[in-house]
Amino acid sequence: MAEIVAFLGMGGTIAGTAQSADDNVGYTAAQLGVQNLLQSVPGLTRILGARQALAEQVCQIDSKDLMHADWAALLGRLKHNLARPDVRAVVITHGTDTLEETAYFLSRALAPELLAHKPVVLTCAMRPASSLNPDGPGNLADAATLAVWPGARGVLVVCGGKIHGAAQVQKVHPYRVDAFDSGEAGPLGLVEEGRVRLLADFPRADHGQAAVDVEALQAKGWPRVEILLSHAGAGGGLLRALLREPEGEAPLRGIVVAGTGNGTIHREMDAGLLLAQARGVRVVRVSRCAYGQVVGDAPEAVAFSKYALSAVKARIALMLDIASEA
Ligand code: ASP
Repeated sequence: MAEIVAFLGMGGTIAGTAQSADDNVGYTAAQLGVQNLLQSVPGLTRILGARQALAEQVCQIDSKDLMHADWAALLGRLKHNLARPDVRAVVITHGTDTLEETAYFLSRALAPELLAHKPVVLTCAMRPASSLNPDGPGNLADAATLAVWPGARGVLVVCGGKIHGAAQVQKVHPYRVDAFDSGEAGPLGLVEEGRVRLLADFPRADHGQAAVDVEALQAKGWPRVEILLSHAGAGGGLLRALLREPEGEAPLRGIVVAGTGNGTIHREMDAGLLLAQARGVRVVRVSRCAYGQVVGDAPEAVAFSKYALSAVKARIALMLDIASEA
């Protein structure tokens, strides 16, 4: 039985096209199918060896517009493919804008045993497929290399020759092809000329972590968690508007506050957050700093729990926490 590497297409710039080959910004994302993308990868057959490529289009979207339902669809196809004994690995082509959120979501939502011996590799591009000098084919070649690399496991991201872990990876540049960074942790490794050079171990499956029942979440509705940013001149108006809950909006269940420095919150916001918390809204604070995480307990924020994650990932963590408690 030949092994399979499944390539799941989600859209993004990697599948984008522009009117002109010298236009790297005025393009439309998510135009080409994943099968089409595979045809542009130099040496894919050599990289895969005896393994077969299986292409599946899950979504075709600009990832800035990603919805929770798209995650549900992706998770369903991942569970199906990873459970197949003949599937060695899954590669996902995805837009860069919310790639770190999808990577983190998958690392939390997939059953640990599905990731214990198989990698899920997300890749992307900063330039459209129609570019004079596209980065997608090279990134996809690197993703395929990593997918079949001995010992590869867990949710991984490959872009610009660097391998990142799902918890650390962050898009840090709106234009550069090397657009991702893992902060203080650094990349897990590099893909160089068709070889993986590991700088840290592949992520270990957390066997204490329960898989998320996304079908139930979809049916029930994902808990609404919003993100606020504390800044100079911040007031309580936005928070008061959030708590008013307009007609037709799901009830607010959680707030992630990206605080200044060590997760501190403007005093004008603080009172509103305490009120929200008193009404049963879960409040979590993180730091808006690019590096590090909230350390110790700042006295003014003792009542709010803290996560060692970026605000967008903390939102996912809080949603999943609330869903698991409901
Ligand atoms: N807006 C695009 C997306 O996230 C950007 C990209 O893929 O680079 O789908």
